[in-house]
Amino acid sequence: MTSSFWNTIILGGGPAGFFAAIRAAEQNPGARVLILEKARRPLGKLLISGGGRCNLTHACFEPAQLVHNYPRGAAALRGPFSRFQPADTVRWFETRGIQLKTEEDGRMFPLTDNALTIATCLEEAAQQAGVALWTQVTALAVESVSAAEAPTTRFRLTVQKNESGLEETLLAGSLLFATGSDANSQALLAGLGHTIEPHVPSLFTFNIPDPRLEGLAGLSVPQAQLRLLEADGTKSEITPQTGPLLITHWGLSGPATLRLSAWGARWLHEKQYRAGLLVNWLHPLTPEKVLETLQNYKNTPANNRKKPGAHPLFELSARLWKRLTETAGISETQNWADVSNLEMRRLTEELSAGRYQINGKGQFKDEFVTCGGVRLDEVEFKTMQSKLVPGLFLAGEVLDIDGLTGGFNFQNAWTSGWLAGGALLS
Ligand SMILES: Cc1cc2nc3c(=O)[nH]c(=O)nc-3n(C[C@H](O)[C@H](O)[C@H](O)COP(=O)(O)OP(=O)(O)OC[C@H]3O[C@@H](n4cnc5c(N)ncnc54)[C@H](O)[C@@H]3O)c2cc1C
Repeated sequence: MTSSFWNTIILGGGPAGFFAAIRAAEQNPGARVLILEKARRPLGKLLISGGGRCNLTHACFEPAQLVHNYPRGAAALRGPFSRFQPADTVRWFETRGIQLKTEEDGRMFPLTDNALTIATCLEEAAQQAGVALWTQVTALAVESVSAAEAPTTRFRLTVQKNESGLEETLLAGSLLFATGSDANSQALLAGLGHTIEPHVPSLFTFNIPDPRLEGLAGLSVPQAQLRLLEADGTKSEITPQTGPLLITHWGLSGPATLRLSAWGARWLHEKQYRAGLLVNWLHPLTPEKVLETLQNYKNTPANNRKKPGAHPLFELSARLWKRLTETAGISETQNWADVSNLEMRRLTEELSAGRYQINGKGQFKDEFVTCGGVRLDEVEFKTMQSKLVPGLFLAGEVLDIDGLTGGFNFQNAWTSGWLAGGALLS
C-alpha cells in the first residue's frame, strides 16, 4: 500500500465537488487538490439533468425570495445565497465563455441546450486550475487524524481502485464530502459523528387511479391548487401548492404536483404514498365564487335551454368540463334549467374541491431528488465546515437540503461548493 499527501481531497466529482475544487485550486496556486470520483465519468447526474439540457439555475436573484424554493434548507441557505446566488452562477459561467438563456418560467439553461457544455466547462476549468481528478476510485474509509500525530494532516482515507480492487491510503489536510445522496458515503459521515436525516424521495408525480381522469392524459389546466388530506378527510398541515396541473396516464403531474410532492415529501413517505388530495381546478376561485357563477349562469334566461355538458365555463378544457359535469350527475340530455341545487353543489365541489385518492408515487423523469442527508445544525454555513470535525466540509446534496424543480438543486450545489472551495485551504 502506498500513501500520498494532498492539501485537500474532494470526495465526489459532481457539481458541488467541481465548484469547490476549482475555487480552492484557483485561490491557492500550487496546492495539491484532488477530486475522487467513484464513477467512470464525473458529473454523471449533471449530464442527464433537465432532460439532457441541464437546468443549471433559476432567474431568481433575490436571496430572500430564492429560499422559498427549498422545502428543506430555506433558513440555512439565506446567508450562503447572500454570498453566492444565481446571478453569481451566471457570471461564473459567462466569464468562462458559456452563454445562458432564461425560459419563460425562469429556468436557466446553456444556450446550446446541452448539458455537455456545462460539464466540459467545469472539467476544463478544473484542469486549468491544476486540480487532479481520479475516476473509478471509491473512498471506503475515512479517519480523522489528531493534530499531535500529524500537524498538516487531518484525514487518512482508504480508497479502492474499482477496476483492480487495489486499496491505497491517502492523507489530506482537509476533506470535502460532495458525495450527493450516496448511502455508503453517508455512512462514512455517520462514522465521523454526523447525524443523517433519512433519505426519502422528493419531486415525484402522484398515481391516482380514478375514472374522472381516465382518457384525459395530456390535458392540463394553467392554475390549479392541490391540498393533501389526512386519512379522516380533514386538511393536512402541508401548505397547499398552486400552479399548472397535468393529467397523465397514471394520475397527476405538472408543477403544482411536483411542488406538493416536495413540500409533503416526508409526510407522504410516512403515509406510504397513500393520502387524500383536494383539487381545485379553478384556483384562485373559491367554491363560494364558483357556486355563485354557476347560479348566475343558470338564472340567465338565455342559458335555460343550453346543455351544461356541452358548454364549458371558466375556460376549462371541454373534455374535463364534460367529465366533471357527468361526475356531478348531470346528464347529457339535461338543460341548465333542469339542474337541481344538489347537482349544482356537486358540480361546484368537482370543480373547486374535488376529492381524489393518491395511491402511490410516480417518477418525474426530468429531475430526481431526495430529501435527507447531513443535519443542517451540524454545519457552519459561512464556510460549509462541519461543526463536529475540524477540517471536514460538506456541500451539495449530501446535506439535508432539497429544492423544487427549476434549477434550485444545482444552485444549492454551486453555492455550497463555492463557499467550501473558499475555505478548504484557509
Ligand atoms: C435525472 C436527474 C435530473 C436532474 N435535473 C436537474 C435539473 O435540471 N436542475 C437541477 O437543479 N437539479 C437537477 N437534478 C438534481 C441535481 O442533479 C443534483 O441536485 C446535483 O447533481 C447534486 O450535486 P452534488 O454535487 O451534490 O451531487 P452529485 O451530482 O450526486 O455528485 C456526487 C458524486 O459523488 C460521487 N461519489 C459518491 N460517493 C463517493 C465515494 N465514496 N467516493 C467517490 N465518489 C463518490 C458520485 O458518483 C457522484 O458523481 C437532477 C437529478 C437527476 C437524477
